[in-house]
Amino acid sequence: MENSKKLRTWLDDMGLEHPLVIAGPCSAETEEQVLKVAHELKDTDVSYYRAGIWKPRTRPGNFEGVGAIGLKWLQKVKEETGLKTATEVANRAHVQLALEHDVDLLWIGARSTVSPFIVQEIADALEGTDKVVLIKNPVNPDLPLWLGAVERLHTANIEKLGVIHRGFSTYEKTKYRNIPEWQLAIELQSRFPDLPLINDPSHITGKRDMIFDVSQTALDLNFDGLMIETHTDPDNAWSDAAQQVTPSRLVQIMEDLKIRKETDVELDYNTKMSTLRAQIDVIDNQLIETLGKRMKVSDTIGALKKERNVAVLQTNRWNAILGNMILEGESKGLSEEFVLRMFKAIHQESINHQEKIIKG
Ligand code: PEP
Ligand code: MN
Repeated sequence: MENSKKLRTWLDDMGLEHPLVIAGPCSAETEEQVLKVAHELKDTDVSYYRAGIWKPRTRPGNFEGVGAIGLKWLQKVKEETGLKTATEVANRAHVQLALEHDVDLLWIGARSTVSPFIVQEIADALEGTDKVVLIKNPVNPDLPLWLGAVERLHTANIEKLGVIHRGFSTYEKTKYRNIPEWQLAIELQSRFPDLPLINDPSHITGKRDMIFDVSQTALDLNFDGLMIETHTDPDNAWSDAAQQVTPSRLVQIMEDLKIRKETDVELDYNTKMSTLRAQIDVIDNQLIETLGKRMKVSDTIGALKKERNVAVLQTNRWNAILGNMILEGESKGLSEEFVLRMFKAIHQESINHQEKIIKG
């Protein structure tokens, strides 16, 4: 797969002057809704019209999709608007029905990518197709699992491949619905530079007012496109209501996004530089987040010390931490002086916190 330049061709052949945009409702609900949204997206930057026909729901009893009838509505979308169509497939039967109804782009959802059995079944059913196939990351942040799915499809002679970063589920409470692991997507991109990389800010954020920011980060990190859930009446959508945007909001988002184009050497340098800077920004944010977490644990220790009437400063413990960190730092190319200075600052902040707690 390493040398397969062909992976990019389908996207390059489209000759777009902007990132690829896939948009449309989370779910096809009624024929009227499907056509209404499509007509509003017709004269925009949208290339593929998405609508979930079969919906994988975490808990039973929620709306599970309209099923095969929705494929007829997608055919009508294509006839009436010229938009190409896209839907999620999760088993052999879905693939057969989607191909029979000439869906142009099929994607594998996060809950399917986790299962090599399902991915293989889909790959076998799609063998040799010339449709575009995109693979969402698995629910859990496991790069080999994601890559394994790509390899299964590639081995099934599907050449128009790409991946979608839709974030990862975590036990921790975060501001995201599914936390973006940008590092992981960046790693995948550097290993397979020819694999188009699409971002799905809708499922990452779960909230429509965060979609712009995540989209901008994705473009800064050189993603090739965006998949954004779009509905004419988002609040009353039958699934994922909080994260869908209206067609006019989508157009506004596309207008406001800063899009970089690679055309010459100078621009190539700028592109590389802004990708690297965006990576640094992501890491810096992680550093602050990690330091915040450390301070919370330290506060809990402070409360415990107060309860037990123990002194804030425990010299032995502190020396042991420092010794370990200096060794760890060395193995990462960080000087002893730097590690010492950094940990002294962190330690001082911890002591300040704990003293406040003990006095308070
Ligand atoms: C979707 O795109 O509507 C969907 C169900 O996505 P995911 O597989 O990312 O949860
Ligand atoms: Mn959805």
